Amino acid sequence: MARATEPERRLLAVYTGGTIGMRSEGGVLVPGKGLTTVLRSLPMFHDSEYAQARGLAEDTLALPPASPGQRIIYTVLECQPLFDSSDMTITEWVQIAQTIERHYEQYHGFVVIHGTDTMAFAASVLSFVLENLQKPLILTGAQVPIHALWSDGRENLLGALLMAGQYVIPEVGLFFQNQLFRGNRVTKVDARRFAAFCSPNLPPLAVVGTDVIINQELVRRIHGKDTLVVHSNMERDVGLLRLYPGIPAALVRAFLQPPLKGVVMETFGAGNGPTKADLVQELKEASERGLILLNCTHCLQGTVTADYAAGMAMAGAGIISGFDMTSEAAMAKLSYVLGLPGLSLEGQKELLAQDLRGEMTRPVSAECRPSLQGGPLRLGLAHLLSLSQEAAAVRDALMPSLACAAAHTGDLEALQALAELGSDLSLGGADGWTPLHAAAQGGHTSTVALLLQSGADANARSDGGLSPLQLAARGRHRGVISLLRAAGACLSPQELEDMGTELCRLASRADSEGLQAWWQAGADLGLPGYDGQSALHIAEAAGNLEVVSVLRGLLGTESNAQDPGRALYD
Ligand code: ASP
Repeated sequence: MARATEPERRLLAVYTGGTIGMRSEGGVLVPGKGLTTVLRSLPMFHDSEYAQARGLAEDTLALPPASPGQRIIYTVLECQPLFDSSDMTITEWVQIAQTIERHYEQYHGFVVIHGTDTMAFAASVLSFVLENLQKPLILTGAQVPIHALWSDGRENLLGALLMAGQYVIPEVGLFFQNQLFRGNRVTKVDARRFAAFCSPNLPPLAVVGTDVIINQELVRRIHGKDTLVVHSNMERDVGLLRLYPGIPAALVRAFLQPPLKGVVMETFGAGNGPTKADLVQELKEASERGLILLNCTHCLQGTVTADYAAGMAMAGAGIISGFDMTSEAAMAKLSYVLGLPGLSLEGQKELLAQDLRGEMTRPVSAECRPSLQGGPLRLGLAHLLSLSQEAAAVRDALMPSLACAAAHTGDLEALQALAELGSDLSLGGADGWTPLHAAAQGGHTSTVALLLQSGADANARSDGGLSPLQLAARGRHRGVISLLRAAGACLSPQELEDMGTELCRLASRADSEGLQAWWQAGADLGLPGYDGQSALHIAEAAGNLEVVSVLRGLLGTESNAQDPGRALYD
């Protein structure tokens, strides 16, 4: 007899249509009603004995026990009408968000069952419409209907339900083929294979195999307890313009007319476009009359760089870099930002240039952390901290953050002063961030040396799972990497395994410095990325001889993983 008292996690599954529930009518597939009935008949989706014992409603199903003593109960809400996702628009996606808002308090998480064709747009739009999401919302679907014998739908839906029910991943995700991606990072890349989606510029948030590996470092963190905000006012007059060689200026002019308010331009390579004067003039005029142009590369992998010379730069400062955003995410972001009330054109541009929902990777130099530089603050705090016993509690609470701020700017003097005031320089702050993290991120070799000498843990992990070694490698701080390696720092087996896609991304950006830094940190440069290609394949295919020769040189060198003290680049 099933126990009716097991702790339960409740989910809402919103079924919008798509192949997963389709039936054949007159030789074509059409969205099919009654997905709940199909799920009810499949034991992997419904434990009828438990449901009966609990007296669950008709639309509410119970998964078999997922882990000892825990049940996932899910209510299926079938939309009316059901859609082939080719017919979905911002209107339907906003309605889904509003449905989630109405039921937000009742459920631990949400699953949206959606057609695959526009699922990447849906996930991107939902990620912007839903601000301060503190619960998982996972989209999924299938390439083959769920009732077919050989279908990907069962695995995908079960995976999405388990992910939303068992893990705290408070963002809009997309689960497909055993991988959970950030929703606004995906694009559909295959119309037939079960691996329909990829996330070219961000590794998956989770991968399901014999174990479930959560890439904690990437999962967005919740800050505070801000309530959910649904931004229903999304701007509809945004467009997508893919540049191609020889595109006529007249065509571009015709496209850029009102009522259009913003355009995602898919440009060549690292953000280039033709330099023909009449075309550049059209872009310039459009930008001058207030049309927002967001520059995204039409390459699957890589980013728009600041040094793009041709066309786009000549069209003036009005064009905003979309860095490594997918076009789907860029369009959703434009709709969101242009729909926000009361923003000036400059304000809109500023917001577009920021990473709002984890949708793009800003260049490393754009990251910053608070600094202690600027004497009065530092002296004032030092004075406060030197006060008698009453200040002891305040001091102990503040020390780690102050030490981190000093370490981030490489302020040895301040660090020494804090040490003299009794600060333990190896302690982490509230988020597990230690002074060594801060110094490694800032690339301050002597600060790192001082901290290591004073006993800082070279392998300390922040709450988000970040290590000083990862930060140093990201910043290409080779002196710091070699100090950390000499002190025994290493990447975890999982980090080593997950490096493939990042290495390919660096190769696609011809970033040999980045590749060298990760190699020095212990990464295996031969690892394949998400599509089975290694960094060397990518560099060869792009004809980038410098990167090819760097990679060949490093691949030919005996693995550095065994020799942490090696400092090749110093
Ligand atoms: N045309 C279908 C849809 O997007 C394809 C699918 O679901 O896979 O709704």
